Amino acid sequence: MLHFRGAVLPDGPDEFWVDDGAVRFAPPGGRADTELTGWAVPGLVDAHCHVGIVPDGEPTLERARELARDDVAVGVTAVREPGSNLDTTPLDSESDMPRFVRMGRHIALTRRYIPGLGVQLDDPSGLVDEVRRQAARGHGWVKIVGDWIDRSVGDLAPVWPDDLLAEAISVAHAAGARVASHVFGEDALPGLLAAGVDCIEHGSGLTDETIRVMAAQGTALVPTLVQIANFPSIAEPALGKYPTYAAHMQDLFDRRYETYRAAYEAGVQMYAGTDAGGFNAHGRLPVEIAELARVMPAEEALAAASWRAREWLGFAGIDDGAPADFVVYADDPVAVVAAGRTLAPATVVLRGHVAL
Ligand SMILES: [Zn+2]
Repeated sequence: MLHFRGAVLPDGPDEFWVDDGAVRFAPPGGRADTELTGWAVPGLVDAHCHVGIVPDGEPTLERARELARDDVAVGVTAVREPGSNLDTTPLDSESDMPRFVRMGRHIALTRRYIPGLGVQLDDPSGLVDEVRRQAARGHGWVKIVGDWIDRSVGDLAPVWPDDLLAEAISVAHAAGARVASHVFGEDALPGLLAAGVDCIEHGSGLTDETIRVMAAQGTALVPTLVQIANFPSIAEPALGKYPTYAAHMQDLFDRRYETYRAAYEAGVQMYAGTDAGGFNAHGRLPVEIAELARVMPAEEALAAASWRAREWLGFAGIDDGAPADFVVYADDPVAVVAAGRTLAPATVVLRGHVAL
């Protein structure tokens, strides 16, 4: 049995216990074998994190475990995996693994995405059937790649016609799945939002108008600022052959804080995600929280990576009877984030036991 004493964010009691994997607000009786003090925060959520995608070679479950452990080490107890080639569901029964929200395989178009990733259709007309197939996997989410460089145009461009998106997203909703879409630029957003997309991943091309629509519709946004930080290195090698695209990516990068600050101020619900896998290393959620704190108050940045993200995805906070997934910090985490420092947990409790 574990006993915690201190501050419980966002508004819990000043002590609680963990017995049989669950949080207890009343003492369960018996002697605690672990005493923790400090600041307890509901387990962090990396809302855009691929443990089934690796930069080199084929992903394996063993590799996915290692990557997930890097995330747990910084306090992540839940991962939203927006597209994976590897079926990581066997990890769900392992006691040291975070909890997962999955999206099956992302849906893209041939030559309009990273080669080898996701399901790549030869023709856009296959979108609706593929969405139906991915939704039937029952993960509760489907991921559509909404824009990518169109080499015939030399710039970012929408991947799918608006009418197909509208049909595909209503098919997903009818099957009980929410839809997330990867979007870097401006032009794919109006069609996706009109079609009722549930979450925009990246969203670096948001404008005043699309921000207004997202806020009004309650569309979520996962900015992945640590991924946007890679835009200059994506733009640079494209300069010779695709100068418009390169300049566009650089511009999206240059105005990223302005864009996301405007989204925050308009009331768009935003969540922390690192886009680990591929380019980005795992275990960088505290860096994303620090980045988010540049566009919103520190407490909001922490909420976007913890209790608010948990509520969005159906995970409990530190509540009586809830599964015990939480992080303990030695110092006030809001003050740490506000001071521009990177959060480091003293203890991570995952599935009711001390994982770190
Ligand atoms: Zn991603």
